[in-house]
Amino acid sequence: MLSTMQDVPLLISRILTHGQVIHGTSQVITWTGEGEPERRSYAEIGARTAQLAHALREDLGVEGDERVATLMWNNAEHVEAYFAIPSMGAVLHTLNLRLPPEQLAWIVNHASDRVIIANGSLLPLLAPLLPHLKPVEHVVVAGPGDRSLLAGASVQVHEYEDLIAGKPTTYDWPELDERSAAAMCYTSGTTGDPKGVVYSHRSIYLHSMQINMAQSMGLTDKDLSLVVVPQFHVNAWGVPHATFMTGINMLMPDRFLQPGPLAEMIETLKPTHAAAVPTIWQGLLAELTARPRDVSSLTQVTIGGAACPPSLMQAFDNLGMRVCHAWGMTETSPLGTIARPPAHVEADTDEEFAYRITQGRFPASVEARLTGPAGERLPWDGESAGELEVRGPWIAGSYYSGQGAEPVRPADKFSEDGWLKTGDVGTISPDGYLTLTDRAKDVIKSGGEWISSVELENALMAHPDVAEAAVVAVPDDKWGERPLATVVLKEGASTDFAALRAFLAEEGHIAKWQLPERWTIIESVPKTSVGKFDKKVLRRQYAEGALD
Ligand code: ADP
Repeated sequence: MLSTMQDVPLLISRILTHGQVIHGTSQVITWTGEGEPERRSYAEIGARTAQLAHALREDLGVEGDERVATLMWNNAEHVEAYFAIPSMGAVLHTLNLRLPPEQLAWIVNHASDRVIIANGSLLPLLAPLLPHLKPVEHVVVAGPGDRSLLAGASVQVHEYEDLIAGKPTTYDWPELDERSAAAMCYTSGTTGDPKGVVYSHRSIYLHSMQINMAQSMGLTDKDLSLVVVPQFHVNAWGVPHATFMTGINMLMPDRFLQPGPLAEMIETLKPTHAAAVPTIWQGLLAELTARPRDVSSLTQVTIGGAACPPSLMQAFDNLGMRVCHAWGMTETSPLGTIARPPAHVEADTDEEFAYRITQGRFPASVEARLTGPAGERLPWDGESAGELEVRGPWIAGSYYSGQGAEPVRPADKFSEDGWLKTGDVGTISPDGYLTLTDRAKDVIKSGGEWISSVELENALMAHPDVAEAAVVAVPDDKWGERPLATVVLKEGASTDFAALRAFLAEEGHIAKWQLPERWTIIESVPKTSVGKFDKKVLRRQYAEGALD
């Protein structure tokens, strides 16, 4: 028997319409670097979104599920593209502007992007790439930047504002199949070639509802969220969609992502929430230590994308900024877990901190299981460590493999029964809290035992002289692999390795056999295109003798 409920498809156009009507006075504030930031209400964004959709359809001939790419920072125009492209039935393809140019070209060609909306400030990156972007016919330029860089390009160039000017401010959004493609994002390739993940209207809609639950980010229209996590990476963790459901105001940093401007934004515009990967926060912390500012408005800081070192969480607690740790992947939209301690735990206790530093609990729509090396299911006892597998309505079930081709399901990424193999290793407690010990590829296999690189890094970064530390496995004749500790010291600090080793043993409670015997001081830890430690590069540098 079927239900008697209405079958209303879960579409991005519905999120947009709700935001522009019910929360019409909420704002997207874009930082401009100098002078007043630019403010645009959700009502205005809604109207301009309709204009952009008209322009894409009528002037550029975008039809059906064609891909329209964005090469943009976080700003109001990018929010308009976020809503216009999927709402009209096309597919938003966010391009990671930090990828090496040849990878970017590969991705554009693979996705068959016919149109790119680009920020003017990114034309120095885009212009030399254009001859290699076969499917691209139109480039729409938004915001400041030198247009002459596109002189002589074999594509049609349009001004964003001119293109949308005079177009109708309403659009009869089509009633699409909620399972159809809305947006696509290629994984950042930390662990191999980029893979195309395609989100549906339905997956984004459901994910947005989850983001807004009190046990997730739980923000309201009283909040201002500083969206540092890039819109080109996993839909900025779903924040722009979620905000249009609840009227949360957004503060967009555009290209001003350095610690100084971020601190200034926080001090002057007083956001209540912010989201970014740990390396951004490490940089901000150093800035705040050097030049203290009032950042007390930030009562919730969502950290994810890489493990949050306990020392970082503690440092932010001391500044009155409460960190909420979350785990996710491009393939998980990204919300997979979020660390809200259970109700019975007393606030501001060690027990609470121990919960907060885990990766967190799974929301209702994310099912999880741990798999051992022989494919066996492991218990949720907080001790048995295995690979995390997940499934749910906003978890990828396959990868895009080019226009007209069937999606692929590589056996190393998906189980036979369709679960996503995350490549992350950890434990789950009986009450459902995930603790990740490592990525499967980063675990150090020493004499048949596993050493967690993350545990060593966290212990090292708790040392007052250490700014950053990354630990990688290096080959060892006797043990197979041993840890190599690469350490970035704080400005003016000096230390010796024997002292650091002793610190790891005494303060970090690291077992003697796990203590690294190979050490090196480096200027900075190499970072991936989304700001995570790039251990591939460190391993390569070691192999080439550059880290001895
Ligand atoms: P890529 O895989 O290309 O780096 P993703 O953003 O999809 O890009 O990365 C997802 C991975 O990031 C996860 O599989 C996990 O290894 C890591 N990660 C994300 N959040 C956390 C976290 N809170 N703690 C530890 N690792 C995390």
